[in-house]
Amino acid sequence: MSKRVVLAGAAGFLGSHLAERLVQGGYTVTGLDNFHTGHAANLAGLMDNKSFSFVEHDIRLPFSANCDAVMNFACPASPPAYQANAIGTLKINFHGTLNLLGLAKAARGTFFQASTSEIYGDPELHPQTENYRGAVNPIGPRACYDEGKRVAEALTFEYRRQHKLDVKVVRIFNTYGPRMRVDDGRVVSNFIVQALLGENITVYGDGRQTRSFCYVDDLVEGIVRLFQSDPLITGPMNIGNPVEFTIGELAELVIAITGSTSKIIRRPLPEDDPRQRCPDISLARQHLDWEPKIALAEGLLKTIRYFEEVLRRSGKGQAA
Ligand code: NAD
Ligand code: UDP
Repeated sequence: MSKRVVLAGAAGFLGSHLAERLVQGGYTVTGLDNFHTGHAANLAGLMDNKSFSFVEHDIRLPFSANCDAVMNFACPASPPAYQANAIGTLKINFHGTLNLLGLAKAARGTFFQASTSEIYGDPELHPQTENYRGAVNPIGPRACYDEGKRVAEALTFEYRRQHKLDVKVVRIFNTYGPRMRVDDGRVVSNFIVQALLGENITVYGDGRQTRSFCYVDDLVEGIVRLFQSDPLITGPMNIGNPVEFTIGELAELVIAITGSTSKIIRRPLPEDDPRQRCPDISLARQHLDWEPKIALAEGLLKTIRYFEEVLRRSGKGQAA
């Protein structure tokens, strides 16, 4: 079993949960992050742990370390964040992934890539299976992320073909939970914060577009199972919750659970916003014996409690 893990993006939403889970599982973790969208506070529970160390580092620059595995979770994942510096996002996914593949190759370790359902673009196949090649606009405003992640997968599998590197790729579908930033910009955190502050809830477009939301603990369990699976299981493998909701339904659910007085308002649909998204998780069920356990209402409640506390501490309190 790989014991020493370099985890890039460790101060982010998913990276910090994964770092904790790996340390609890007996791994020694070196976290890398440049705090682009992550926060040191996410690592507060790990900083005194002897099995965890942290290096402030931008993965667009090379890094060297002795390790058994390299996990790449470094990349802004929220559309406003990854579009704010689109060329930077492309560099993170190309140069950054290349640097981490080089690190894994030099260390003769396993490389694990956090890929995304965005690989499928605005999909014509529904639900999406891993062999679906996707419908991505290569020159649109989401391309820096979608195409960046696609080239990261291409690099990963070329390292497997040419250098015989052990690799694994997970395609993550919309995941939410505690430690998302208040100003992250993704839909779950936006709606919860708006509801708690009594502000208008901003549904983009007609709200009939769909997403399938996975709670972070379920996702991390699937990732760890894939990471620990037989080296022949490379993925790409979908990990996500196959229960699909419209964005309008999500807004209603958040209002119902928070008891908010917020009103739903419409805002323009961003260009190339996928109309539907739902994972086919047959491969994860078959190879990892994994499926999500936390229903949306339950996961939202845990996430709402987290944001209530963050807003209370920042002095914004509850206006809803
Ligand atoms: P996040 O923005 O919270 O975390 C990304 C982390 O990467 C942050 O800590 C950020 O500071 C760090 N980072 C960004 N650029 C960096 C750089 N150049 N060098 C070092 N660190 C850098 O987002 P997240 O939701 O935790 O996503 C983590 C990974 O999972 C990303 O690769 C993302 O594409 C992937 N993913 C997430 C989701 C999801 O629903 N959360 C879905 C699909 C894929
Ligand atoms: N969305 C919305 N209001 C918001 C933020 C997002 O209606 O305040 C919509 C967005 O247009 C998309 C869906 O919610 O259809 C999911 O958006 P998110 O940015 O969370 O993730 P992604 O589009 O990358 O799946």
